[in-house]
Amino acid sequence: MSIDTTSRSALDDDHPRGLLQQVTARLMAKRAAAVAAVPQWADLREQARRIKRATLAGLERYLLEFERQVTAHGGVVHWAGDAAEACRIVAEIAAANDVCRVVKSKSMVAEEIGLNLFLEQAGLKVVETDFGEYIIQVAGERPSHIIAPAIHKSRADVGRLFAQKLKIGYTDDPATLAAHARVVLRGEFCAAQMGISGANFGVASTGTIVIVENEGNARLTTTLPRVHVALVGIEKLIPAVEDLGVFLALLPRSATGQAMTSYVSFITGPRRRGDARTAGPGLEERFGPEQLHVVLIDNGRTRMLADPVMRDVLMCIRCGACQNACPVYRHIGGHSYGGVYAGPIGSLLGPGLEPRTSPPDLPFLSTLCGACAEVCPVKVDIPAALLHLRHQAMGGATGKALPYRRLQRLLMRAWASAMAGPVRYRVASRVLGAVLRTLARGGRVRRLPWPFHGWTEIRDLPVPPRRTFRRDLNRGRDGRRA
Ligand code: SF4
Repeated sequence: MSIDTTSRSALDDDHPRGLLQQVTARLMAKRAAAVAAVPQWADLREQARRIKRATLAGLERYLLEFERQVTAHGGVVHWAGDAAEACRIVAEIAAANDVCRVVKSKSMVAEEIGLNLFLEQAGLKVVETDFGEYIIQVAGERPSHIIAPAIHKSRADVGRLFAQKLKIGYTDDPATLAAHARVVLRGEFCAAQMGISGANFGVASTGTIVIVENEGNARLTTTLPRVHVALVGIEKLIPAVEDLGVFLALLPRSATGQAMTSYVSFITGPRRRGDARTAGPGLEERFGPEQLHVVLIDNGRTRMLADPVMRDVLMCIRCGACQNACPVYRHIGGHSYGGVYAGPIGSLLGPGLEPRTSPPDLPFLSTLCGACAEVCPVKVDIPAALLHLRHQAMGGATGKALPYRRLQRLLMRAWASAMAGPVRYRVASRVLGAVLRTLARGGRVRRLPWPFHGWTEIRDLPVPPRRTFRRDLNRGRDGRRA
């Protein structure tokens, strides 16, 4: 389905649109309050941008250092060039460890590579443990927001979904719904042999994976099963632990308006002899995972790195603030973008990571108002990158759209010539007025012929009147003279 079709049907549906407007407005208000409480916010953003840019400039060195450190702490690093290779690596780790049940904490890169489907087709049971992701999994949908995957669902929607799919009595009480999920998921945590997580940051100097979350499910995913697999996009690295302070100040405030999330986990290697035991009510004693596998995923990132404009997009820390700020996203919702990543950042990551399968009109799904860039904690110049992709889509780099550009140039010349003198202008307006009047239906021009048809796809035109202001003005003058 094209972007045009999906966004039109999203616009026709008032229910998710109303929800989106409410929730994103609430998130933006919380973000604004949290940011206002930090006087050095502008400095933090600048610092984050500097760190990310420097890391991307020396990415190869930092990746190798990260690999050395993970290995030195007992972990295993795997390198995946694309989505298929990443999925194959995870499936092989599962097979080598007789894994049949997997729990997963929230990971956008796992969505990106289509991991759940791949593992399920290999016969594994995969359960999402983030509440929003769990809802989406039960519904059989894709996430529609980076940090709030089920943002398009009301509590009544979730109540109906659980009643229908999980066969529990209908309720729209969030606490009851969450309690039900908690009971189900607690059993899954205990039974799973493998836990799969993403990573918010990878610290090169220590080989540490940092996960920021609010529900505690990522901590259970990474400590209870005997095998932990962390999926890390190669752009997630930062040089040292000292750099984390900047990002841990920016990320939660930008994402949810919190000064700090409930959990920040630092994972350096698998369990070691003498590590503290973890246990809780209803849980047998566990010691942390016996194995830690880190899958470093490229999947188009080095291609983006080679493009001086798209390279900056890799600075993104996936806070979702640009989605909340975007007037287009707030109207059409995440599913209209046709890919894993939605909103302004999705319009860049889609074509950047998957240029062959990404809808070609994705970079045009923006008003270029700049609200996204204003809220971005790492100062990604989203409008500039969107313009860059639009230029490419119109054949700027390849000359693919040469006939279109020639026609455009011809029309602009004709327009310039018509505007070059009063007589030409009058003749051109009369001719144009007459043409538009012949095309009018019911007092409006609803459809223009090719090559102007795009103009009337989403708007119509008033019919130019026969009696113009200029004619009346001239007649008035003539009358006064007579
Ligand atoms: S582009 Fe910026 S605002 Fe958007 S998700 Fe990434 S870090 Fe957040």
